Amino acid sequence: MADRLYIVVPCYNEEQVLPITAQRLKEKMNALTDAGTVAADSRVLFVDDGSKDGTWKIISALNKEDGLFEGVKLSRNRGHQNALLAGMFTAIERADVIISMDADLQDDVDAADEMLDRYYDGADVVYGVRSRRDKDGFFKRTTAEGFYKVMQALGVDVVFNHADYRLMSRRAVEGLKQFKEVNLFLRGIVPMVGYRSEKVYYRRGERAAGESKYPLKKMVSFAVDGITSFSVKPLNFIFTTAAVLTVLGFAGLIATITLAALDVIPFWGIVLSAMALFTGLTCACMSIVGLYVGKNYMETKHRPPYIIEEHLKGGDKD
Ligand code: UDP
Ligand code: MG
Repeated sequence: MADRLYIVVPCYNEEQVLPITAQRLKEKMNALTDAGTVAADSRVLFVDDGSKDGTWKIISALNKEDGLFEGVKLSRNRGHQNALLAGMFTAIERADVIISMDADLQDDVDAADEMLDRYYDGADVVYGVRSRRDKDGFFKRTTAEGFYKVMQALGVDVVFNHADYRLMSRRAVEGLKQFKEVNLFLRGIVPMVGYRSEKVYYRRGERAAGESKYPLKKMVSFAVDGITSFSVKPLNFIFTTAAVLTVLGFAGLIATITLAALDVIPFWGIVLSAMALFTGLTCACMSIVGLYVGKNYMETKHRPPYIIEEHLKGGDKD
């Protein structure tokens, strides 16, 4: 018996692209079931992350039309990562294996075949890795690749150029469930779950329709979240900086006193510039500490990452 696959797709204001995506996924799923690669009652699960447009309407219509499509509606917008989590934890009630992908078809749907091959060969996690980013603009490409490099330099175990297109076996998702973090960064957590993992390479395409739901502001907060959730190296950096500055400040003080005593410079000139420098650095250090304190605060609340408002289950496929 082939395993039951769930393709989980988070959607936020995706009414433009959703019909195209649904069609594409339906073709893929039919091909996979016809070939006997996955069970006949496999499904596509769309998660509506509190969209303000007609996304949920489209999902409901798809669900009525074809039992292949399931839908989960979150009570409000909780962000891509939480939406993904909601989808995976809902799907795992029936699925043997889950593939997550974005709604915009930027991830090559055909890479799913190879992912499933690796899964049947014994891998529990298969990462979809972008071999090229030529379809992303220069800015997106540079910032995204820079982000992975910073993460790696900080000692966080992330797969370079892997976003959230990945396959996970049931036990890998069960493992993920045991991580009770609120500050969610799946790309960092999934490698921590362990088990055998593989990579599948694909070319990242352009959005099939609609616009990116990740404006610069969201991207920056996502990157800061990722770094502060997994690495305390910035805190070590603060300590080193503070130590070096103390030594420099002390040396500067002696130099200033000497120079002022010799009437070479007016005393206050140096004091002013030194004050500006140290105030700036102190504030920078404090704000990094603040980020971690804030994280802790959010974690201690144990807020639920998402609330499901409605779940449209799939039916028998005709
Ligand atoms: N998304 C989401 N909630 C959000 C923002 C985005 O569920 O608050 C979904 C979005 O619908 C898409 C995926 O996350 O399926 C990735 O978003 P997008 O394609 O806009 O990001 P980009 O590819 O530009 O980084
Ligand atoms: Mg996209």
